Amino acid sequence: MDALERDFIDAFLAFLNDPNAKAEATQARFMSHPYVKDRLRIFKVTDQPDFKPLQKNMREKLSALIRPLSRSERWNYLNEIIDALRRLQFDAVLPIQDPRTREIVGMPIKIGSLIDYSLKRTSIVIKNYPTISGVENACWYALALIAKDDWRERIRACPVKKGDKVCGKFYNTMSGQKNYCSSKCARIAEEENAKVRVWNLRHPDHRKPLPYPRRKFS
Ligand SMILES: [Zn+2]
Repeated sequence: MDALERDFIDAFLAFLNDPNAKAEATQARFMSHPYVKDRLRIFKVTDQPDFKPLQKNMREKLSALIRPLSRSERWNYLNEIIDALRRLQFDAVLPIQDPRTREIVGMPIKIGSLIDYSLKRTSIVIKNYPTISGVENACWYALALIAKDDWRERIRACPVKKGDKVCGKFYNTMSGQKNYCSSKCARIAEEENAKVRVWNLRHPDHRKPLPYPRRKFS
């Protein structure tokens, strides 16, 4: 697992779980990541107060992505991500020489990534970095990372019930808790399981399933 990918996904999940989604805090989450930090001039900041509509949309997209999908649903989904990433690429102007007039003209282009070359021992390391053009682009890029099977299986929505609501916070099983979003939710789940275990001991003929059975992780 790539640590930069993991950190980027975690910034995305923190945005989705943030009850306020204020613009400044949301931008700061992504701007501190190396994908963005080293190329801050590319990143568009906004003067809107918050990213709530985007957050709602992205929560729906991520929920759908981590559910089992049919082949055609998945295909539509991945195409939607690709279309959004293409649309949100960074706008640039490439100065080129017109072959007929020899005049230097600016050609508008879209840039989705930059390549970096570095030396490691006796070989050349070639790395591809996304050019994240703003918060919306960051979210779609995070979805593209999560769409890879390796990550998709590791992103979960917390199942713990709080009153008549479900917690629903997204979390990455590679970054902390395996079964719940937080130690607080883990405690609630354990308490509910303990109640059912006691009931099952007293009523061996009417055993109930645990409300939060342990799930296996690879
Ligand atoms: Zn939770």
